[in-house]
Amino acid sequence: MRKISICISVALLALACNMIYAKGAKKVKVPQGVSVVYYCKNITPENILRLYEAMNVNLEGKVGVKVHFGEDGNINYLNPELIQPLVRKMNATLVETNVLYVGKRRYTESHIKLAKEHGFTFAPIDILDAEGETAYPVEGLKHYTKVKTGSHFADYDAYIVYSHFKGHGSAGFGGAIKNISMGFASPGGKMAMHASAIPATRNTQSCVKCNRCVEQCPADAITITDNGPVIDSAKCLGCAKCIAECALRIFTPKQTKLASEVFLERLVEYAKGFVEQKPMVYITVMQNISKTCDCSAKAPAPFMCDLGAVSSTDLVAVEKACYDIATAQYGKDPFLDVNGVSGMHQIDYAAQLGMGNKKYVLIDIETGEQIDVNKLFK
Ligand code: SF4
Ligand code: SF4
Repeated sequence: MRKISICISVALLALACNMIYAKGAKKVKVPQGVSVVYYCKNITPENILRLYEAMNVNLEGKVGVKVHFGEDGNINYLNPELIQPLVRKMNATLVETNVLYVGKRRYTESHIKLAKEHGFTFAPIDILDAEGETAYPVEGLKHYTKVKTGSHFADYDAYIVYSHFKGHGSAGFGGAIKNISMGFASPGGKMAMHASAIPATRNTQSCVKCNRCVEQCPADAITITDNGPVIDSAKCLGCAKCIAECALRIFTPKQTKLASEVFLERLVEYAKGFVEQKPMVYITVMQNISKTCDCSAKAPAPFMCDLGAVSSTDLVAVEKACYDIATAQYGKDPFLDVNGVSGMHQIDYAAQLGMGNKKYVLIDIETGEQIDVNKLFK
């Protein structure tokens, strides 16, 4: 049974009166069919905690906070100090998954070591796919019939999705949707979104026949021939283990030229698969907004100012609020401008799939008043 209790009596009262009484906020009229997003301009650890409290939710049981530890060399990832009070209050675990490409974040041990080097030392860390992956079926979607995550995903009763809103080369921007989709996906799931379900091979003649890939392949899909490894595509599960196992990097994600819209839809569908499994709430910080994401070892310097932070129980509303605030401050779609991809299709498609509401009211947790996004930076 889902262990979330959102103060139902307060919610019903609010609905009945068509008003919302947010903690510490003045009365703000919220029309029916409109979601609430809380906002703070000053990005501080205290305000991140207040953003959580403003949502008036009570996450029970074992809580995971989905963070991004930042790639080795990246300096734009969110300062761990920001989330510390909330993580401590919730007695939560910091959760992440290993990445698809080879590097420190590909392997559980070096991933945790890097996280600690980046300052995430104040709570337990759980790499969800440390002991393998699991899949959840999804129905009625265009691109997937299942989504793949780490086996530890099931161990948590609820998640706080703590996201860094910034640019992303292929997605336009990366916020909460991307933090859920790519962020919870196992390497095999990441491969299914980025590329095709089966790895490619290259430089196969350099194979030294160590047999590691064969031993680690869960599907018995690899044969070592005189010309190196061959994958039986009928057997391959797309788990991406061979990519990590081969020291000579003979296996690689098979790059396919995806239309931008298709990639964005893949992200959204993967996110849908995960949000259907567990209660989740969303806190997103708009700080250090570079054109590329925290997976980049050499992300460029931010191209726009810090914009504040938001929280909501509505995934689509929280993402739309970030996009609107960024667009209002920049004067036009910033991500279309710097990356050539808007990213807005993530929001539209998520709304189309019933994952949330594009209509929202923005409430300032510091003044308790409703904010007009277009006047925020005037
Ligand atoms: S992706 Fe997984 S199942 Fe497929 S060949 Fe590689 S290790 Fe085997
Ligand atoms: S792990 Fe790499 S080098 Fe070893 S057998 Fe497999 S392909 Fe060859």
